[in-house]
Amino acid sequence: MTTLQNLKLTYLLPEVANSIIEKLKIDKRRDLLKQVEDLSIVCLCECGDESCGSFYTIDPSETKDDQIKHEGISTNLGLIEVYEDRIY
Ligand SMILES: [Zn+2]
Repeated sequence: MTTLQNLKLTYLLPEVANSIIEKLKIDKRRDLLKQVEDLSIVCLCECGDESCGSFYTIDPSETKDDQIKHEGISTNLGLIEVYEDRIY
């Protein structure tokens, strides 16, 4: 495991958090909006691509099941993914 556990997204990457908040406001996703301030970066993407800035806010093993309800919401800073109404 990395030492990135319990690092708040709003503290580490406020511009990313704000872009998510703005997008969710536009989309009127109040159910997701209240999750943003509690998002933590649990681990970084392990694809190895240096230009990849992806990270996870839920342990990736929890979202491996393809049957889980999944949606993608694009913001001006990238794509956020939502699994079973939890921001991923
Ligand atoms: Zn990656």
